[in-house]
Amino acid sequence: MSEVIHTDVAVVGAGNAALCAAITAAQAGARVLVLEKAPYAERGGNSRFTGGLLRFAFPSKEDVLGILEDLSGFTPEQLDAGPYPAEQYVADVSRLSGGRCDGALIEMLAAGSNDAVRWLAKHGVTYELYEKYVEHAGRINWPDRAMVKVRGGGEGLVAALFAAAERHGVDIRYDAQVVGVEAPGERVQLAVRFNGTPSAVDAAAAVLGSGGFEANPAARASYLGPSWDLAKARGTRHNTGEILAQLLAMGAAPVGHWSGAHAVPVDAGSADVGDLRVGALTTRLSYPYGIMVNVDGHRFVDEGSDFKLLTYAKIGREVLRQPEGRAYQIFDQRTVGLIEPRYELGSTSVVANTIEALAGGIGVDRAALTSTIAEYNASVRDGEFNAAVLDGKGTDGLVPAKSNWAQRIDQPPYVAYPVTCGITFTYGGVGVDAHARVLSSAGHPMPGLYATGEITGGFFYHNYPAGAGLIRGTVFGRIAGEEAARRALALTAGAPA
Ligand SMILES: Cc1cc2nc3c(=O)[nH]c(=O)nc-3n(C[C@H](O)[C@H](O)[C@H](O)COP(=O)(O)OP(=O)(O)OC[C@H]3O[C@@H](n4cnc5c(N)ncnc54)[C@H](O)[C@@H]3O)c2cc1C
Repeated sequence: MSEVIHTDVAVVGAGNAALCAAITAAQAGARVLVLEKAPYAERGGNSRFTGGLLRFAFPSKEDVLGILEDLSGFTPEQLDAGPYPAEQYVADVSRLSGGRCDGALIEMLAAGSNDAVRWLAKHGVTYELYEKYVEHAGRINWPDRAMVKVRGGGEGLVAALFAAAERHGVDIRYDAQVVGVEAPGERVQLAVRFNGTPSAVDAAAAVLGSGGFEANPAARASYLGPSWDLAKARGTRHNTGEILAQLLAMGAAPVGHWSGAHAVPVDAGSADVGDLRVGALTTRLSYPYGIMVNVDGHRFVDEGSDFKLLTYAKIGREVLRQPEGRAYQIFDQRTVGLIEPRYELGSTSVVANTIEALAGGIGVDRAALTSTIAEYNASVRDGEFNAAVLDGKGTDGLVPAKSNWAQRIDQPPYVAYPVTCGITFTYGGVGVDAHARVLSSAGHPMPGLYATGEITGGFFYHNYPAGAGLIRGTVFGRIAGEEAARRALALTAGAPA
């Protein structure tokens, strides 16, 4: 074993949450060492794979426009946006979690979200309007309120954060897998493998930002249940949950929805783990405008229960439950123009002039698919289709219902895209308090240990509103960095932490 490295604050991981903590701790005057398991070429965690969509509260449209460099060719008058009060943010997360989320943490998340976006901007992150808006009657709308993304997506976000961390003197080590955590009292000891060689780090405080267990098939099967080992991991292969497991073994409180995960429909031809060259392009989110059938030709979910960014995170699970963990999204010429451009990459669609031929092309029983679509068409309510609102143009008497945006599928050629379940991140994690301190199962802060991002639990259950993951990491990363630095500086000064 090589000699022990001493530092004030050790940060485990180098995704968005960890880097926000590292920058904040360095700004507070602490010596900061970041330990990132991935090699340099794969740095940035799941955060780098993101589209960079950010959900934050805002008091007015003008407040949002103020952080944008340009309006992507629109005039301010064309944009139909906001306000998005913090109370509404809290209500959205709470409703989607079935009322189970930790109210105090979600209130902090919502209250800190607008400032988090501005803080990121101070560190070099720039913004643009999210390109997946809805256009209706000449107005541009983001009906679920997430309307801003980082320019350059996840790549742009982590590039800015790494540069800021380096500017603040943060020491970042790659190929540095933390394999052991001990926090016996005043200081924290980490067992680290630098390029596979065992070493040790001694710190006054450690911020754990090492993600969930979504890239670990064994942990998925054991916590999420049967067949989850077969899901595709959408992001980094490095989020395998060993630090989470360590913390639980040390007595940290397991909090949140341990059998739940954010999982979306993805191209059935996706790789088993995320590919940085493809990023978030495997996602298949145009289902509200068509229907989804399983390999037996049957529908299995309400494709239009809400706006897609408020349902997508729970639809992956529904797909995984189907035979072969597979489904098809079906559109006709009335709806094909509403399909997101990213469908052009990945598995090719099957196109046919009749439903029978479409069934043959995707290998689904012809009689079953024909009858599913005939039954669906017969149940579609008349009325005006409007993607900008919950238009109530649903089905009558159909099981499962389609609640909004139902249009008959009768304009050939018909188009089908194969999808499967892509897991984004896991919901279960360690308990933290308002100071981002890791809590023991007895409810006490564990000295010297702080956590942020996917590794923490209690935020999301069952479902999730798009854009909240990155903001959670930033809001609580800043708190963790500040608290860890405070502890380190107090210990250095000889004061009680
Ligand atoms: C394809 C995709 C698209 C997404 N799009 C969005 C979006 O647009 N908006 C949004 O808000 N959220 C999005 N998300 C979710 C978002 O990525 C996460 O919520 C967020 O990035 C989590 O940040 P984090 O810092 O906690 O984890 P990560 O960014 O995953 O960072 C964790 C880091 O810890 C490292 N690590 C793991 N184990 C160890 C160890 N033992 N030792 C040292 N280091 C370790 C990993 O290598 C990794 O770099 C998306 C996710 C994916 C996969």
